[in-house]
Amino acid sequence: MAGLTNTIDRLFDAALALVYPQACAACGVRGVERRADWPACAECWDATRLFEGGETLCWKCGAPAGGEVPEEVKPNVRCRRCEPEAFKAARACGLYEGALRASVLGLKREPFIPPRLSRMLREAARRAPLDEATLVVPVPLHRRRERERGFNQAALLASSLAKNVGLPFDAWSLTRLAHSERHRAGMDALARRESVEGAFGVDRPRLVGGQNVLLVDDVFTTGATADACARALLDAGARAVFVLTAARAV
Ligand SMILES: [Zn+2]
Ligand SMILES: [Zn+2]
Repeated sequence: MAGLTNTIDRLFDAALALVYPQACAACGVRGVERRADWPACAECWDATRLFEGGETLCWKCGAPAGGEVPEEVKPNVRCRRCEPEAFKAARACGLYEGALRASVLGLKREPFIPPRLSRMLREAARRAPLDEATLVVPVPLHRRRERERGFNQAALLASSLAKNVGLPFDAWSLTRLAHSERHRAGMDALARRESVEGAFGVDRPRLVGGQNVLLVDDVFTTGATADACARALLDAGARAVFVLTAARAV
C-alpha cells in the first residue's frame, strides 16, 4: 500500500510540475517540484534553519545556543534573557527565514497549512518538553481583526496540530480583550510588551484549570505575546504553559 501511495505521489508530483508549474514562494526563481515541499522549493527548505531535535537550544525559550552539549545536559541550558517569561518552555519549527517565512506569510492569506509545516509542528509537540501538554490553545486574534482576515491563522495551526497529536483543542477560553496596536517593525521589545500587557483574558477558567496548555502561534518574536497569554492562563488556574510557533524571529 505504501508503495502504491508513493507511486501515486510521484505521478502526481510529475503531473503537477508539468501542467501547473508553481514558482517557489521563497526564492521566486525555482519551481516547487514536490507537493510535500509546497510552497517552497527543496533548495529553499535546505537553506532554512530548522529545529529538528538535535540542536542545542535554551531549554526554556528555545533560542538557539552556540555549541553542542551532551543530551543529558540539554534541559539545563538557559539563555537567561527569558527568565521573567511566564511560560515554561517555548519551541519553534525553525527560524523565520526562507521557506518557513514563506509558509507563515502564505498562511496569513490562505487558510491552508503546508504539509511540511504540519509535520514539523507535530514532531515538535511530541518532543520534550512540549510532550507534557494536555490541551492545545491558539493565541487569539481580536474579533475585529479575525473578521477582516476571515480566519485566525494561529487557530488553524492549533486545531490541525491538536488533531494530529490527539489532544483536545480549545479556541474559546483564551480571549483578546484589548485591540492592541499592531506590532510594527520599529517597535522595540518594551513597546511590544506594553502593547499586549493585560490584552488577554480567560472566559472559561474551568476548561483550562489544571491543564498543561500548549499555546500555538505563527511567529515568536520577542516572547511578549506568549508571556501575556501565559500569565492569563496561569491566573485562570492552568498548571503550566508551553508555547509552540511555526517560526521564531531570527
Ligand atoms: Zn526556492
Ligand atoms: Zn531563553
